[in-house]
Amino acid sequence: MKNHKNGFGTIATHAGNEANETHAHVQPIYQSSTYGFDSVEFGQAIWREERDGYIYGRLGNPNNDATAQAIAALEGKNLAERPYGLLCGSGMAAISTVILPLVNAGDTIVSQQALYSYAYNLFAYHLPQKGIQHVAFHGPDLNDLDRALATAENVKVIYIETPVNPTMALTDIRGVVERAKAIGATVVIDNTFATPYLQRPLEMGVDVSIHSTTKYLSGHGGVVGGAIITPDAQLHRKFMTALFHYGGVAGPMDAWLTLLGIRTLHVRMERHCENALAVAEFLAAHPAVEKVYYPGLESFDQHELAKRQMDDFGAMLSFELKGGYAAGATLMNNVKLCSLAVSLGTVDTLIQHPASMTHFRLSPADRAAMGISEGLVRLSVGIEDVQDIIADLEQGLVVV
Ligand SMILES: *Cc1c(COP(=O)(O)O)cnc(C)c1O
Repeated sequence: MKNHKNGFGTIATHAGNEANETHAHVQPIYQSSTYGFDSVEFGQAIWREERDGYIYGRLGNPNNDATAQAIAALEGKNLAERPYGLLCGSGMAAISTVILPLVNAGDTIVSQQALYSYAYNLFAYHLPQKGIQHVAFHGPDLNDLDRALATAENVKVIYIETPVNPTMALTDIRGVVERAKAIGATVVIDNTFATPYLQRPLEMGVDVSIHSTTKYLSGHGGVVGGAIITPDAQLHRKFMTALFHYGGVAGPMDAWLTLLGIRTLHVRMERHCENALAVAEFLAAHPAVEKVYYPGLESFDQHELAKRQMDDFGAMLSFELKGGYAAGATLMNNVKLCSLAVSLGTVDTLIQHPASMTHFRLSPADRAAMGISEGLVRLSVGIEDVQDIIADLEQGLVVV
């Protein structure tokens, strides 16, 4: 289908609103595990893909299709054709559904060293037990990617995440694509932190964009889900087959909630970004704070790269306190408005401590290699009135 040229907000508020028999203005939830056939011939035609139709919940339902198509329309806003989309039961289901069909024993996955921790564990510890090799590179340094590619054999996938959780380091997307094309590897990106509102990797030549829809896309903290978007028909079919076999599908209710969230993605992201910049500037000027990592700050190492490949800088940031771990623990125990919780991308502000929470399963050496110090604090800045977020942090920060 030809992609029309509406703006991002118009696509977000309309995409996936397919016709339904009842003329309900919002697509109903098709909470059904199976779908009837008018006749044997009718059923056969659907199985043979000679006509559209639904068969069984794991093999697709109208809510999953609508939501996947909406995300695909946003990711491919400026592509000539709308890319393909699949909805999964979690971000990790999306990651495993993409990776497993792309690699066999003897193949290599080259990925960033710093990654969402469960993705890193999948590549660095789990898949090597099945004969799939893993080589890591330092994301901000493409010379290090060149070194990795020079030593690795049978590289099938280059996997990146930018900005990365939790240090906000960026990887040059176009530079990675160029190197992958030269060796025929598939580039997979985790685009969760940026969302298509801020960064559309498929437009930069990336083959597959993955989301944890748990975060900004659903946006309200009510869903765990994932999505796989690719412009490549063959890859899409591969992932769809893998999804049917491995079974990591999303349920219709979660798909519906995610689409409801997507309707306001552009409005939320605008406020998220505005608040995050103000919070980052407040923290950077605070005497208790050693260093702030936020791509929107001019002091951020990769601010120029952020401006090149992102439309704005997002609402995730992390910071080091001069008082180290103890000061971080005090802050996290003293906040009243911010919630001490993992996850991110919800309308309210979340604060957490990677070394003891999201990244605690990694060895201290892996954490150090990812740039995660014991005192690093991560914030997912919400859409509250920003002076209230700042006041809450202010009363919890201890000057040492
Ligand atoms: C949360 C997250 C994931 C995993 O998603 P789930 O929905 O929790 O499975 C992957 N990547 C990033 C960047 C995340 O923040």
